[in-house]
Amino acid sequence: MSNLDILNKHNFKFNKSFGQNFIFDKNFLKSFVVGIVDKNTTVLEIGPGAGTLTSILCENAKRVVSFEIDKNLKPILDENLSNFNNVEVIFQDIMKVDITEIENIMGEEYIIVANLPYYITTPIIFKFLENSTKLKSLIIMVQLEVAERLVAKAGSKDYGAITPAIDYRGDAKIIKKVNRTMFTPVPNVDSAIVQIDLKNKYNITNNKIVDETIKCIFAMRRKTLENNIKSYFKLPTETVDNIISECEFPKQIRGEKLTTDEIIKLSQVIEKYLK
Ligand code: SAM
Repeated sequence: MSNLDILNKHNFKFNKSFGQNFIFDKNFLKSFVVGIVDKNTTVLEIGPGAGTLTSILCENAKRVVSFEIDKNLKPILDENLSNFNNVEVIFQDIMKVDITEIENIMGEEYIIVANLPYYITTPIIFKFLENSTKLKSLIIMVQLEVAERLVAKAGSKDYGAITPAIDYRGDAKIIKKVNRTMFTPVPNVDSAIVQIDLKNKYNITNNKIVDETIKCIFAMRRKTLENNIKSYFKLPTETVDNIISECEFPKQIRGEKLTTDEIIKLSQVIEKYLK
């Protein structure tokens, strides 16, 4: 019986508000899991749905922990994952679980592999980027337009706070585009799989000031960098002028033009002036 048949047998109704668009094509899922996951890998999956990706992960990984918000999926996941003893499904909203608790459950370094619910893609990414201590990489299926934002060039239309927030922590790339027809039910947009490998490229010891600087830069996109720094960090004009000239940026520059290198430099100068 296919996973779709099992859903029908249990009279499962897709819940749009949970971003439920499932993928049943095992060969497609295998094609990107194999090569990324092996028997030494511990995987955190967010949103197993009917468990098709989960079962591929179980076949290839050492251990899989999946968080699912929708308890209606329990009998379906019980049936679809009954052959595996290396999986634990936890029925909780991932956004409501503290990262320390999640990482206690993971127990060791882990990667995230997930077809993410579209309505909370960005909050999930920020939650893990900003708080995790054991996460090594994320291999996530997201809407194509979000994928383009995750890997955008500085100053481009897709460039947003999440782009440098990822870029200073590692390397992100789109590994595969995914046609919308791959999903059930078929959504209105295509998707892509993005791989983010985390590494401390800039030897940052204080992430907080870099994250604050990124938030400041993108706080009001149409304002100049000078105005954003003034209002975000509550600094006087003279100090902000000194910060901008010490960074050797043009006075009227807009924050959204800054590359990751420039943002890191700016954060270090701001930190100095905040002391
Ligand atoms: N992994 C499955 C697949 O590829 O077919 C399902 C992917 S579907 C896009 C997203 C899944 O995330 C759904 O099963 C949905 O119920 C679940 N989900 C949505 N919000 C969630 C949350 N806050 N915490 C945990 N799971 C969530």
